[in-house]
Amino acid sequence: MRAQKYSLKLLLFFTGFVIMTMLFAAEKGDGKKEAEKMKGKYPVTKTEEQWKQELPELNYKILREGGTERAFTGIYTDEFDKGLYRCFACGAPLFRSDTKYDHGCGWPSFTKPVSDNAVIYLPDYSYGMSRTEIRCANCGSHLGHVFDDGPEPEGKRYCINSASLQFIPEKEDKNMKKEGSTTAIFAAGCFWGVEYKFSKEEGVISTDVGYTGGTVINPSYQLVCTDMTGHAEAVKVEFDPAKTTYEKLVRFFFEIHDPTQVNRQGPDTGTQYRTAIFYTDESQKTIAEKIKKELQKKYDLPIATEIVPAGKFYMAEEYHQEYIKKKGGESCHL
Ligand SMILES: [Zn+2]
Repeated sequence: MRAQKYSLKLLLFFTGFVIMTMLFAAEKGDGKKEAEKMKGKYPVTKTEEQWKQELPELNYKILREGGTERAFTGIYTDEFDKGLYRCFACGAPLFRSDTKYDHGCGWPSFTKPVSDNAVIYLPDYSYGMSRTEIRCANCGSHLGHVFDDGPEPEGKRYCINSASLQFIPEKEDKNMKKEGSTTAIFAAGCFWGVEYKFSKEEGVISTDVGYTGGTVINPSYQLVCTDMTGHAEAVKVEFDPAKTTYEKLVRFFFEIHDPTQVNRQGPDTGTQYRTAIFYTDESQKTIAEKIKKELQKKYDLPIATEIVPAGKFYMAEEYHQEYIKKKGGESCHL
């Protein structure tokens, strides 16, 4: 009798377990389905093969395969300097330091993202838990999860992997200016010639050549030339808004190169020679997109220029600065 009772209990337990597992599997399917639906809908779309080439192994595992770094091992857990946290994969701004706090969980914790549309939310039922996954809204890379146990008034904890982020301290990030920035960043092939042309434009105060848009920290010219860093050869232009406008500079940018060439300008080929506008605020983005659309009518081929948020700009080696001016000649291949 007792044995029968036990086996009945056991049977009930197993039936319950099987039903729960099935329910759970169904839910899990939904989370995956939603992630699948979003594929190819992000402003930055690259193949997994491209991401694999561009990102260091650990960052790739977390950003692209939804991995999690071990608690207390990430580089930003105890980082409390003032600055901006950008997506490690695409450079999009994600969190500000003034929303970061110490939750004691071993991962960087924030109360809210930099804007409502900086991240997207997906249901995640993996590992027998019901959680909300957060991804970068610009490139779809995995960042972490959001929980309801954060400090008031938001009550939220955005629990983020350090490896999904790149922190730009305020003092270093000259691109953090709000609307009305007087910095413009362009990539249009070999930066020697592009810098030279911009340096002669009216209203331009100074120019710097460097690398941006990639994922490797402090890259060298040699490394960028391997086409493995994701960086573009770029020119940072400081201008006087009383003498010129961002719109004029964008038009000039389109004039001095062939924006329909994909990952090349003349004899220079590779993603480091791609055509790109790195906007430093929303008004620049609007202007750049407007002009690109307008100029498309002049070309048979699609304009390949990517318009993306400015990430960290790494100054190129001194010998590249004002190269044409120092060496003479008109330009490289422009
Ligand atoms: Zn991103």
